[in-house]
Amino acid sequence: MTQVNLQGFYRLPLEERLARLNELHYISDAEKDYLKNNQGLALDLADNMVENLIGTYSLPLGLAMNFVINQKDYLVPMAIEEPSVIAAASYAAKMAKAGGGFHSEVLDRQMTGQMVFLGLDQASQAEIWTRYIKDHQEELIQLANQAHPSLSRRGGGVRQLETAYYPSESEPFFVVYMTVDTQEAMGANMMNTMLEALASHIEDLSHEVESLPGLEKLMAILSNLATQCLAKATCQIPIEALAKPGQNPKEVAKRISQASQLAQVDPYRATTHNKGIMNGVDALVIASGNDWRAVEAACHAYASQSGQYCGLAKWNYLEDQGLLVGEITLPLALGSVGGSIKIHPAAKLVHHLLDHPSASELMKIVAALGLAQNLAALRALVIEGIQVGHMSLQARSLAIAIGAQGDEVDQVSQALQKAKHMDRQSAKAILDELRQ
Ligand code: NDP
Repeated sequence: MTQVNLQGFYRLPLEERLARLNELHYISDAEKDYLKNNQGLALDLADNMVENLIGTYSLPLGLAMNFVINQKDYLVPMAIEEPSVIAAASYAAKMAKAGGGFHSEVLDRQMTGQMVFLGLDQASQAEIWTRYIKDHQEELIQLANQAHPSLSRRGGGVRQLETAYYPSESEPFFVVYMTVDTQEAMGANMMNTMLEALASHIEDLSHEVESLPGLEKLMAILSNLATQCLAKATCQIPIEALAKPGQNPKEVAKRISQASQLAQVDPYRATTHNKGIMNGVDALVIASGNDWRAVEAACHAYASQSGQYCGLAKWNYLEDQGLLVGEITLPLALGSVGGSIKIHPAAKLVHHLLDHPSASELMKIVAALGLAQNLAALRALVIEGIQVGHMSLQARSLAIAIGAQGDEVDQVSQALQKAKHMDRQSAKAILDELRQ
């Protein structure tokens, strides 16, 4: 699929946008109707997904444009309620495109699980167990694999077992970490099955083998700190592409790089820096039917790996080359199957729109989107000031919130942008006057 004739997409009415996507085979006829009729998630399907269902909850689904990732064009679907985010991602992707787009790679794609045991109150006992697990690694791995045999048949399965002992006077813990190649799945459920099976076996062994100290299983579960499931995206932007008419490209590049350095030293800034990144990351993770709570937990923990919470994306201004160079590495435990991915009709549509990416492909797209989102946020923040870009969309949201309908939304939002205060009271006064 090539991205053609989509310039000015944002100016088209919704029905024409869908028609264009359909003509270009991004979406099928049925998918076009699904979107046009706002069919969402059927209640009987939703009733099978969660407990005590009372309805469904919708989010806007939009497309970020201009993305070139590893020399391929993408329209990036984003499910998000916050104004400006999709426009910002599209703008940043356009700047990156001037430097050839994003280069994105998967550094590693394995999930980590842990089996936690009580009962070892001496480091020497933990050493006996560590040696046993090392010596019997192959048979223990086989046993775990047998708990979900289809994974090994697909070429995946357990890759490694490692141990750690956390001594503590009140409660020492012995932990066995399991690394698994989950193939196309995020793997939480399949891993939990394997971890439960192996943990029970290890506990049994501790009672059967005389030389082994006794263990009591506390828990066996996937860890969301996915340090072995990483995607890295980079881009190199000629600084001229960063500046609007009247702006000094060198100044823009320098200030973006300074803002990025601030996020490495000030956790208050780093948190907001990363929130902006997650605006993009979450929007695609949600749209693709993946578990965004898992990704959120992983990214924030990963940002603290050095002992201090730091910004996840970095920008460097290479003055001699006239380039702004960006880089992000994110732990992204994503799947192209599993969970609700093949169940939720919108998630299925999103995978079609993205040309059915593998789990690794999806990780690459998400990382590039996170980097783009950060660039747009930093640029707006240190050049124009963040409120300017948000103004018109905020005005629209306010207009809708106070009950403006149809054409009133435009009229109220335009008047609101010229008003002394952009708040509910002013919006209401404008609407009341309009309706007189
Ligand atoms: P599933 O339980 O849906 O398992 C993946 C499914 O995909 C399996 O049925 C598997 O089939 C199938 N599959 C088809 N093709 C492939 C392939 N090529 N590679 C791998 N699997 C394939 O999902 P996951 O195990 O991925 O778990 C994800 C879900 O777990 C998410 O919904 C998440 O929210 C939830 N979860 C998350 C937790 C956490 O993050 N801490 C904890 C618990 C649950 P087959 O059975 O034949 O192998």
